[in-house]
Amino acid sequence: MAAGPAGPAAAGPTEADWAAAVAAVRGLPADGRVLLICHVNPDGDALGSMLGFGLGLRRLGVRQLQATFPGPPEVPEPFRALPGLELLVPAAQADPAPDLVICFDAASDSRLGELADRLTGPGTALVLDHHASNTGFGDVNLVDPAAAATSVVAEELLARLGVTLDAGIAECLYVALSTDTGSFRFDATTAAVHEMAARLLATGIRPGDISRRVFDSRPFGAVRLFGEVLGRARLEPGAAAGHGLVWTYATLDDLARHEQRPYVLEALIDPVRCTAEADVSCVVKQTGPGEWAVSLRSKGATDVSRVAVALGGGGHRLAAGFTGRGTVDEVVEQIRAELAVSESSGGAGRPT
Ligand code: AMP
Ligand code: MN
Ligand code: MN
Repeated sequence: MAAGPAGPAAAGPTEADWAAAVAAVRGLPADGRVLLICHVNPDGDALGSMLGFGLGLRRLGVRQLQATFPGPPEVPEPFRALPGLELLVPAAQADPAPDLVICFDAASDSRLGELADRLTGPGTALVLDHHASNTGFGDVNLVDPAAAATSVVAEELLARLGVTLDAGIAECLYVALSTDTGSFRFDATTAAVHEMAARLLATGIRPGDISRRVFDSRPFGAVRLFGEVLGRARLEPGAAAGHGLVWTYATLDDLARHEQRPYVLEALIDPVRCTAEADVSCVVKQTGPGEWAVSLRSKGATDVSRVAVALGGGGHRLAAGFTGRGTVDEVVEQIRAELAVSESSGGAGRPT
């Protein structure tokens, strides 16, 4: 189907949007086929909101149900105990023409890679997301930029569909909520977030076990790899309008030497962004020859989503990313230059 109305969704979903989403699910034929898709290189929110919602659809009696994401069908180790993993199929096996497609945590269809064509089929496309930059690429768009995670939107839609939380759904939504709030540390951690966490914990899930698996466990090789990569971090106090930039990089060769999979590098931004002297932190992770996945974070003075969007990516004001091309030095120079543009336009630190 054609894309829905494009543009920012600052106010969040309207009652009409919620009603349309409920109708899209309730209107499925008895043997209706549903395909769930989350963004490439899925994180805790992408997988957790998708699988939690999928388990909810199961509870509603949806039987023809697949969950998938573009790229290699590899689930990062921290998420390999998530309930609902049995719903996952490799992208190549995803239903080519489902009755309903539901996308999770993707700000644009470019984040759906080779699966983006599922949105243009005969079925309805429903988008659940919380990126302010969401392009409104679904037929029905539930996009709430005020939500701390896509799982907040997923929980609300499940409630409106009359699905009661069980421990399986709750664990998925809890992983999503805790990862996107940095374990309930970021400013997005509102009273409503803690109220949702309380509803999830009331199902009996064990936050200690979940947090240890998701945040506090990695192979020894990854510990040594982190040591090496952190050892080459650079601090540039004058960058980002004098707010400071800290950055480092990891190559495919680094991964190979320590026998590690690329996803272990997702956690690397956390020790880097601890740097007190820098507002902006950056990790440049090689994904192929001359190709890098770049993670950007800000403590508040800089709008890194503006930088990421200018360089072809996206994200949130304090957490964003893009695909860099060339050498590490060329990629970092592009970031420096964009941070300088931000300063000269007076846009630094202002939400967009
Ligand atoms: P990450 O640094 O990968 O944890 O991503 C931080 C934020 O930036 C997330 O909200 C992502 O959705 C977004 N993001 C990361 N990489 C990209 C990209 N290549 N294109 C668009 N958004 C991205
Ligand atoms: Mn995500
Ligand atoms: Mn998210």
